[in-house]
Amino acid sequence: MRKVLIIGAGGVGTVVANKVAQNSHLFTDIMLASRTKSKCDAIAADVKRRTGTAIQTARVDADNVPELVSLMNAFQPELVINVALPYQDLTIMDACLEAGVNYLDTANYEPKDEAKFEYKWQWAYQEKFKKAGLTAILGCGFDPGVTSIFTAYAAKHHFDEIHYLDIVDCNAGDHGKAFATNFNPEINIREVTQKGKYWENGQWVETEPHQIHKPLTYPGIGPKESYVIFHEELESLVKNYPTLKRARFWMTFGQEYLTHLRVIQNIGMARIDEVEYNGQKIVPIQFLKAVLPDPGKLGENYTGQTSIGCRIKGIKDGRERTCYLYNNCSHEAAYQETGAQGVSYTTGVPATIGAIMFMQGLWKKPGVFNVEEFDPDPFMEQLNMQGLPWHELFDTDLEV
Ligand code: NDP
Repeated sequence: MRKVLIIGAGGVGTVVANKVAQNSHLFTDIMLASRTKSKCDAIAADVKRRTGTAIQTARVDADNVPELVSLMNAFQPELVINVALPYQDLTIMDACLEAGVNYLDTANYEPKDEAKFEYKWQWAYQEKFKKAGLTAILGCGFDPGVTSIFTAYAAKHHFDEIHYLDIVDCNAGDHGKAFATNFNPEINIREVTQKGKYWENGQWVETEPHQIHKPLTYPGIGPKESYVIFHEELESLVKNYPTLKRARFWMTFGQEYLTHLRVIQNIGMARIDEVEYNGQKIVPIQFLKAVLPDPGKLGENYTGQTSIGCRIKGIKDGRERTCYLYNNCSHEAAYQETGAQGVSYTTGVPATIGAIMFMQGLWKKPGVFNVEEFDPDPFMEQLNMQGLPWHELFDTDLEV
């Protein structure tokens, strides 16, 4: 039996449900569970209409381990695809261990009361998963995910040693709103307002938020102002590729977006601690999420494309060379296919491919692993087949 349980019914959950259903020959039964069952039901109905595949639905509070365990025991999935929020990673991993289920996610654990993401909490599960004979695949979205697999693929096929890695993430789309985030606003705002951090000469270098920036040219898009921010795949990549002398992550932001972000911070709406309001305790950033556009619903009028890739410099046969691996994804095409915009699509497709890798036994080994620790080749092949074709350029000016 190749049963899969998807947890989380947001933008990414919508794409995963669609893509898993499109590959229903590889999954015998599909269940979508989340906090709000009506959202799962709406997605399941839409997926049925698009693909003809039926998806079961359930309500679950993923903060609650016993609830998760009883759902897993009842459905008996072989794999859980966690596309709820990073806050739920550890409870879902605990439940997987208790129910004997394999695990995959797209974002590393973050404590609710501290805007900090690190792998240490999930890496600490290594021995438990190993002992249980279960696989945990961490960070299988686009970034982290495909960016880590691009790096592994380049290191395997194009270099003897990789020395410089610049992950470049451009969203040149236009959703027509004055301000909206492309994935969960709370997680997104916590991520992009943090201090910047990159790896150089064996240590982390910290910067003020958005301190380092310059225009980078993206294929099919042109130059866009790009900012160095800390991103979670850097932590595992510098560990797994110790030859790296420098590793950075760049993301494009428009001036309008940055102005909104600054105002949100200045007026205290990005606060993650509780404040008293009308005799009730509320967390400002959670309230903000309730009034901002739902990222899962941005797709309808979204035009333009994303371009995410890895610019790598290293040595091959004693000579320096460069390689730029990237994918461009159209928001309109993503919406046409799944009803979700490009950022949800570029996350949900790789999560589904990770599940395919697991179900085919290609990415299956007891323990907790980041995606670059598996063979990148079959995954790269699937990217071309599942809607995220990639390209590679050699010995071009990397601009970084
Ligand atoms: P959304 O906020 O749109 O969706 C999150 C879903 O999780 C919602 O359906 C929500 O339920 C559900 N959920 C939240 N808390 C619980 C809970 N306690 N129990 C059960 N369900 C819960 O987020 P996105 O779809 O945009 O993002 C999903 C994940 O993907 C996030 O972890 C995000 O960090 C990650 N991501 C990764 C990327 C990558 O490239 N690696 C890029 C983009 C996102 P409800 O509907 O009731 O609120």
